[in-house]
Amino acid sequence: MDIKKLVKPDIRSLRAYQAEEIPCRVKLDANESPYSAVSGQRSAIGFKKNLQALNRYPDPQAASLRKLMAKELKVKPQNILHGNGSDELIYNLITVFGGPVLYPVPTFSMYGIISQALGERKIGIPLDNEFDLDTDAFVKTIKRRSPKLIFLSSPNNPTGNCFSEDRILKIIRQSKGVVIVDEAYQPFSDRKSFIPLIQKYKNLVVLRTLSKIGLAGLRVGFMIAGADIINEVNKVRLPFNINSLSQKVAEAALQNKKQMRTDIRLIISERKRLFKEMGRMDGIRPYPSDANFIFFKAENGDRIYGDLLKKGVLIRNMKGAADSCLRVTVGTPAENEAFLKALEQIL
Ligand code: PMP
Repeated sequence: MDIKKLVKPDIRSLRAYQAEEIPCRVKLDANESPYSAVSGQRSAIGFKKNLQALNRYPDPQAASLRKLMAKELKVKPQNILHGNGSDELIYNLITVFGGPVLYPVPTFSMYGIISQALGERKIGIPLDNEFDLDTDAFVKTIKRRSPKLIFLSSPNNPTGNCFSEDRILKIIRQSKGVVIVDEAYQPFSDRKSFIPLIQKYKNLVVLRTLSKIGLAGLRVGFMIAGADIINEVNKVRLPFNINSLSQKVAEAALQNKKQMRTDIRLIISERKRLFKEMGRMDGIRPYPSDANFIFFKAENGDRIYGDLLKKGVLIRNMKGAADSCLRVTVGTPAENEAFLKALEQIL
């Protein structure tokens, strides 16, 4: 029996998200934090008590976690919905509103993958030469195709930059559909968050995640929006989508943010150092970043990716997104040093 013939055509032509484990000494490929946000907080998490409570389902509303996050982001708990990672919320949003789904390219690949998995039309609009939004093209497409959803990752993965605030605002104002500003990397940027604008723009959703700030293994993300949107998306959320241990650990992390803040500051200063050092290398062009990674162009990117891996340093080959481009995550000072040294030797 040919199983492939049973699969829906949209899924048959889909390629799985590149998330395989490649063995390496220095892992700088997945935009994770090199630091755990809860190391040394075992007692705060109350491990023994929480293990004993595993016979019960988790809190379906994640009430105390949402309350803590609401306080952190200065919004009301009814304006927050929790996801098993923010990618689950992207899935939920596309399930609820459908397509066409519009986004710039290159950007986070899951917007397109999930749209296709759900059989929705997707439209990609190339970024301009500065990796900013081509507002004219967006406005034209909004008028012509009436997208139900527009995803704007700012800072953008993989290019690392924030889009201009006025361009994002123009798209929010022009759109008759929902606009999602994905702020997965906002903690590394000095630009203002779009969260305060959810009161003003009823079609605005902001996405946040704990994955980039030290808790990728937990799978905890949030969407922030007006109660109307939250209530609709909540209908398709699986009831127990965040397990009890993840809820407890996330709560402990949010109650003790001092370490998290110190780690973020260190990552930002290491990003600046990496950018400067990479800029000095012949044949390497790093692009300015507001995130915890650096996007760069390299002569013969494929060879550099492979040679770095031979030296045990894993980064991300972005050749599918942009010609001869690579992306390196900011690691610990020692990891960054190992990357710089290996890159210099290869060059
Ligand atoms: N948005 C963007 C822009 C991302 O880069 C990522 C992770 N690579 C996500 C969302 C998903 O993050 P998570 O599901 O871990 O919250």
